[in-house]
Amino acid sequence: MGILTHEGFELTPRADEAEILVVNTCSFIESAQKESVDTILEMAEHKKFGAAKKLIVAGCLVERFRDEILEKIPEVDAVVGTGEVERILEAAQGDLRVLPAAPPAFLYHELTPRIVTTPRHAAYIKIAEGCDHPCTFCIIPQLRGKFRSRRFESVVREAENLAAAGAREITLIGQDTTSYGEDLGLRDGLALLLEKLAQVEDLLWVRFLYAYPNRVTQKLLDTLAAHPRLAKYIDMPLQHASRNVLARMKRGSHGDAFLKLLERMRATIPGVSLRTSFIVGFPGETEADFAELCGFVRAAKLDWMGVFEYSDVDNAGSHALEDKVDPEIINDRRNRLMAIQKKISRKNLTAWKGRTAIGLVEGPSKDNPLVWEARLEGMAPEIDGKLYLTDIELPSGETAQTGDVARVEILKTDAYDLIGRVAELLPRREPRANLASVPTPRVAPPTEKLTRIATGAPLRVLA
Ligand code: SF4
Repeated sequence: MGILTHEGFELTPRADEAEILVVNTCSFIESAQKESVDTILEMAEHKKFGAAKKLIVAGCLVERFRDEILEKIPEVDAVVGTGEVERILEAAQGDLRVLPAAPPAFLYHELTPRIVTTPRHAAYIKIAEGCDHPCTFCIIPQLRGKFRSRRFESVVREAENLAAAGAREITLIGQDTTSYGEDLGLRDGLALLLEKLAQVEDLLWVRFLYAYPNRVTQKLLDTLAAHPRLAKYIDMPLQHASRNVLARMKRGSHGDAFLKLLERMRATIPGVSLRTSFIVGFPGETEADFAELCGFVRAAKLDWMGVFEYSDVDNAGSHALEDKVDPEIINDRRNRLMAIQKKISRKNLTAWKGRTAIGLVEGPSKDNPLVWEARLEGMAPEIDGKLYLTDIELPSGETAQTGDVARVEILKTDAYDLIGRVAELLPRREPRANLASVPTPRVAPPTEKLTRIATGAPLRVLA
């Protein structure tokens, strides 16, 4: 979006008024592929009956089915894979239809034009791309290429720019954030990066997602503990707890080692919130393996947990494994595991009742028009529970605004969410710059040119 805007294209979230439709696809699991294909077909209708003159398919689906997309959906004018993001301009302006498949190597930097699609107060920064781990259920290394880190200074510069433009929270992402810097010759690269970002004054919280268990070093934990701006929060997908299943996943380790690591995290970082995710129904997962996982979840008492049902993807290593688990059993295991966690979460959250804490105000709730939402330090955007605010007005008449930092009083607790009210508003920080990553168009495009692009994400609401 940044590249296109930079060249004078105008963005619209409305597919019916766009002259160029861009569907940015996902290909991680079967349901994501289906959603991507459904959206492409739906957008193809706009090309037949609406204003659209061009349909471009971008993203991971292209890395897997480049030729098939063009062959089976003739309405598609061009495909742009994850390694060719910069070619989007050629696809939009010219005749680019298909590029020869090459290992994905694209990685943006602080000067790459970027449109930040999240609210101004909470931005994501990708610090690395690709992955070198061999997890048998995962095709991300095939789709995203080998692990490569962004330059240290590039990430710091982007964080400073975002903070100057009003971001109060930065979330660092990448398929394998805990390996950050290894390819640059840095030791404990993520810890060093976090240490540096913890000095950016306008930020309230810096967090990172997706720690790989055996890459979590004591230095990383000590760094999180030492800096107030670093969110006391660790998301570490464990995938399973049984030695047998983890070996078949090619992830090694086992539940007892994970429990020790969690204990070390809690001892080093008092009050840390811990999140993980598991896959149930992996080929060869016996009832005994699943029971081991249930035992682990009961013992770990994590703050947040996600459970994914195993889904067979034809070019993943696990596709060839025998002893596939019946989909009904998989679904039942997911429900059983979530039921265990629900009780743990409900109990964990009761400790919050009557307490006050610092929250980042997110604005009116999408779930319920009568309340607002906020998040605490231990709640990452979009994935964890929320703090619903029933009252955002202070006795002085002042009301909270989106992006405010507030002291909130927790009044009630539920299984996954908290309910509270704003007790005090902390001083606001006015943005000192426009989003540096959103350049203004250099030249107004001639009116006869295709100038309006509909982007994939907002279009999904139409599906
Ligand atoms: S570490 Fe994550 S991205 Fe890398 S192969 Fe394993 S599951 Fe996939």
